Amino acid sequence: MGPGFTVRASSVEAPSASESRGLRSAQQQVARIAEDRRVHVAFGWFHSHARELEDLQLEVTSIPAPPWGEAARSEWLAQRFAAAGLTDVHRDELNNVLAIRAGTDPGAPFIALSAHIDTVFPPGTPTHVRRDGGKLYGPGISDNSSGIVALLAMANAMEAAGLANTAPILFIGDVGEEGEGDLRGMRYVYKQPRWSATIASLLVLDGAGSDTIIAEGLGSRRYEISVRGQGGHSWSDFGVANPIVALARIIDRFTRTPVPVSPKTTYNIGIISGGTSVNSIPESATMRVDTRSASVDELDRLERALHEAVDHVIPETTGRKKQELLTAEVRVIGNRPAADLPTESQLLKTIRAVDAQLGNTARIQRASTDANIPLSLGREAIAIGAGGSGGGAHTIHEWYDPSGRDLGLKRILLLTMALAGVAEDRES
Ligand SMILES: [Zn+2]
Repeated sequence: MGPGFTVRASSVEAPSASESRGLRSAQQQVARIAEDRRVHVAFGWFHSHARELEDLQLEVTSIPAPPWGEAARSEWLAQRFAAAGLTDVHRDELNNVLAIRAGTDPGAPFIALSAHIDTVFPPGTPTHVRRDGGKLYGPGISDNSSGIVALLAMANAMEAAGLANTAPILFIGDVGEEGEGDLRGMRYVYKQPRWSATIASLLVLDGAGSDTIIAEGLGSRRYEISVRGQGGHSWSDFGVANPIVALARIIDRFTRTPVPVSPKTTYNIGIISGGTSVNSIPESATMRVDTRSASVDELDRLERALHEAVDHVIPETTGRKKQELLTAEVRVIGNRPAADLPTESQLLKTIRAVDAQLGNTARIQRASTDANIPLSLGREAIAIGAGGSGGGAHTIHEWYDPSGRDLGLKRILLLTMALAGVAEDRES
């Protein structure tokens, strides 16, 4: 996720009587967990291992993980998962890494914790990392090395503290979250019956921060539209239908489509290309279009408008002869579903209770993250930050400031334990 994905902060509506009762019981549960001696030990672990976590973060950032090139980082994470005492460490065919912290009730559904391991940076991007004035620098250092480090901090702190969970916890380092990866890693996990049927809740750890709860998935659809013709010489073939002209007319027609302010709906023509030289009638022209909305209906409406623009423009942008007709193709190159976590969900109550316990203030936000996949299937999921702060996401100047990372890690731990349940000592 990048900062550009967050488009709206919504205030939470006043809770109903039964919702406040649910919140109160969640608060009592979280308060009990926060008093557990082993939870204190885990909190202490976060503090005493701050430097090691920074070193891990620099190390993982130095391993390139471009889209469709996550293998090396996937292997690194698998080794770290095993070293943290997790079991069933497994890399699937996409290079997602999965591992389990067994629960005392092996039949209980999983609580899953995930962090995407891919970056937006193409192969060959220098992965120089450095520490300077207390901050860490490197491409992807925050988005999402901070999330990966939070996964490892959870596994290691739980193990060091002997913190026993009732429900099993599934740790996921997934590929293909960014850009045209189109959430392919998490999509794949939820296509496996073994996981889709057994994950009760998913907590996505994405980027820095402790002040947001992404409980509303921002949907997006992306298209590539190509127009083709026979092309020719600008002088001798004058009159042959021109794909660039047709594309310009399609853009003009499509961008007249009205979009609502609420639910916020947007479109963008991001890339346009085509043609060979100034004195050639082009043989093809292509553009890439991004559409986003909180509403699937609005995405459908924009899709119809795009097809309508193409269907209207192509037949009327003809050359002088019939055989000079243009052809057009509309291809979907990205499709992220939109869906919201119901406000009465247990997951939302629990994170609210955790924030109250920690004296933390967080806002509900809408964004496009791995949580979109389970949310679109009607399952519980949220995305939260891994603590600390960061900036310059999706640039090579990205930075991460670990000050306050503790708060983010405590928040994740309390939430995980509240959802999974704390059991008596494993050894007893
Ligand atoms: Zn991210």
